Amino acid sequence: MLDVAQFAKDQTVAFGAGIRNEIATHAERAGAERVLVVTTPHQADLGQALADALGPRAVGLSATAAMHTPVDISEAAAEELRRLQADSVLAAGGGSTVGLGKALALRTSVQQIVLPTTYAGSECTPILGQTEDGVKTTMKDPRLLPGTVLYDPELVATLPVAMTVTSALNAMAHAVEALYAQDRSPESDQLAMLGLEAFRQALPAVMADPSDLAAREATQRGAWACGTVLGRVGMALHHKLCHTLGGSFDLPHAETHAIILPHAMAYNAAAVPDLLAPVAALFEGADAAQAVWSFARDLGAPSALKDLGVTETDLDHAADIATRNAYWNPREITREGLRALLDRAWRGAAPAA
Ligand code: NAD
Repeated sequence: MLDVAQFAKDQTVAFGAGIRNEIATHAERAGAERVLVVTTPHQADLGQALADALGPRAVGLSATAAMHTPVDISEAAAEELRRLQADSVLAAGGGSTVGLGKALALRTSVQQIVLPTTYAGSECTPILGQTEDGVKTTMKDPRLLPGTVLYDPELVATLPVAMTVTSALNAMAHAVEALYAQDRSPESDQLAMLGLEAFRQALPAVMADPSDLAAREATQRGAWACGTVLGRVGMALHHKLCHTLGGSFDLPHAETHAIILPHAMAYNAAAVPDLLAPVAALFEGADAAQAVWSFARDLGAPSALKDLGVTETDLDHAADIATRNAYWNPREITREGLRALLDRAWRGAAPAA
């Protein structure tokens, strides 16, 4: 089992089925006296249950989190937080909720406690993406890293099966890109492989029985490793493409990652096959991209951008935007290469270099 204590820096991390019911104890340990609970409208019941479990430490609930952390929502929640004189925020949810918690920490310096309910991994990074007037900007600041993260496998056990797979592939994408990151290190390589191994082993068990809490906890350890490595090294083509597609066509985050990952891997494997060879070995294929593509297919992951509502003419626009601003990638980015990649991802074809 992946031992996170070996790698955790600047964070208190704990795992356990039902750990959410001990939230008052963890809040006390963290010195949280006045806690604002945040979540999405969809997860308001979970937010209320946590506020109840916190007892007098809970001063309010804001179930307003939304995808891509819109600035107007963060400003309104920050005003509420100041009015309530909260000293801490408890974010219970996926990347959107964790984003709101970080946005509040940025504006008010409150400490963050997180109960993740997806595998996105934002709880392990000092990164925040915010959206204003349709433009998403990303920042990195050590103060954004949540201080306490509590992984309760019962909370991911409620993830619908389809979202379980896409969210897991979203996490795995962080690890894959870490393996060829320009600033990678032996430790980041180790973290990335531990994250991928956790999903490789536990995800099929979760799909066979979504209520298998031991397998769910193993996937959460994988999400922790993948999220942590995302915070420590730079990402490349895959994340840039998903960012472009998500921002331009308002696509769902995890599904987009799930579809693009094997194609981005194939593109980059042509330049750095040795760096992706451990992934091929782990997923038992001659080729890393094909092996991950097969793994995703076997689990029923979505495979075609056209099924998300992207039209064929959108692909030219996406290729233009994704080649406009230079960014580091192990293989030179060409518009022609990206357009071909997007075409395969749009049709749901197998990945190719
Ligand atoms: P999400 O948080 O947007 O959740 C999607 C939907 O699923 C929401 O309605 C949510 O309420 C619901 N949901 C979440 N967990 C559930 C559960 N266990 N059971 C039932 N429903 C559940 O999705 P996400 O993919 O976790 O996060 C995506 C966002 O996170 C994007 O905005 C992305 O940019 C951001 N992100 C940021 C970082 C970072 O380091 N800053 C990392 C990864 C993702």
